[in-house]
Amino acid sequence: MSQLANQYGAINLSQGFPNFPVDEQLLQISERLLRENIHQYTPMAGLPSLLEKIAKLTLLHYQRKINSITEIVVTAGATQGIYTAINTFVNKGEEVIILDPSYDSYEPSVLMAGGVPVRISLNDDYSPDFNRIEAALSTKTKMIIVNNPHNPTGRIWTDAEFEAFELLLEKHPQVLILGDEVYEYISFSHPHISFHTRPKLIDRTIIASSFGKSLHVTGWKVGYLIAPEKLMTEIKNVHQFLVFSVNSLSQHVISDYLDVVDFNAISKMYLQKRDLFRQLIKDSRFELLPCDGTYFQLMSYRNISTHNDVDFSRELVTKHGVAAIPLSVFYKDGTDNKVLRFCFAKTDKTLIAAAEKLNRI
Ligand code: PMP
Ligand code: GLN
Repeated sequence: MSQLANQYGAINLSQGFPNFPVDEQLLQISERLLRENIHQYTPMAGLPSLLEKIAKLTLLHYQRKINSITEIVVTAGATQGIYTAINTFVNKGEEVIILDPSYDSYEPSVLMAGGVPVRISLNDDYSPDFNRIEAALSTKTKMIIVNNPHNPTGRIWTDAEFEAFELLLEKHPQVLILGDEVYEYISFSHPHISFHTRPKLIDRTIIASSFGKSLHVTGWKVGYLIAPEKLMTEIKNVHQFLVFSVNSLSQHVISDYLDVVDFNAISKMYLQKRDLFRQLIKDSRFELLPCDGTYFQLMSYRNISTHNDVDFSRELVTKHGVAAIPLSVFYKDGTDNKVLRFCFAKTDKTLIAAAEKLNRI
């Protein structure tokens, strides 16, 4: 969709990346560090100061103490973290439960491990369907992937949902959890509940996060995994021969920047953007769906067109000048509910210009 948007000169609210400048302080730190002797390999698991700061962040936000040396690995974006976690633990023929609509890298990572993706749909309101999850769980299940706050729907699991999940997994002690929490610092309606705060599950959970998402530097491709030592030891065995270590300059800059960055301000900034976008669209023929977190807003176009969502999103680019992602592409079975995903991690000017076009439809 980004390519199509460029081709037609459309406003690109499709792919999830910010189009506003990065924080000036981040640039200053980058300029300062560029001249220093920091351009060789960092230790395999990550720059020690960055590992310590990730441990501090986890303590600050989730009151969970983790060991920076044995429980963290810095990855080349969450994408490599997710791939590594899956390929470390999933063996040929083992099943991985994926909740649709789902982020696009999960299924290929499972397939590359020789595993079997078991994709089941969330409820119509994108809450987890525990009956379906229970039916999918079996002795063949090796892992379940839970993404919170959720791309593409912007939904966040509630405490009651975590409790139901805990109850269900009690009966399946062999199942590992991959918690994709790359949008952990972008939550609005109610706080994001991290697996870090679920003692019943944490011993078998690998959490993936991304500084690309948290610090608006998606192109830097720096993320991390946090897992109990017994799992992390195995993860590092794969990480070592996949990338060995991650870009040193980015790790140094992020490490210093974490001393000054305010994660609450990030959430507030995105809250303002979400509210601005919703306000601008509210009188249009699009129907706004709830958005608890992430920087994605779902909108239904069922009052506008009967075309399928892929065709409609193409029309949106070619005839109306705005790019969005059709939700059906996040489903194994291509479920088409006439819903599109719009990314609001954009300058106010971009959002206003996009809304003007969307309001004309
Ligand atoms: N998981 C989800 C849910 C995402 O939205 C993204 C970013 N597109 C990733 C993982 C990958 O993050 P990164 O860019 O750090 O590889
Ligand atoms: N995570 C971003 C999205 O969902 C983009 C990442 C990518 O394009 N691979 O749009």
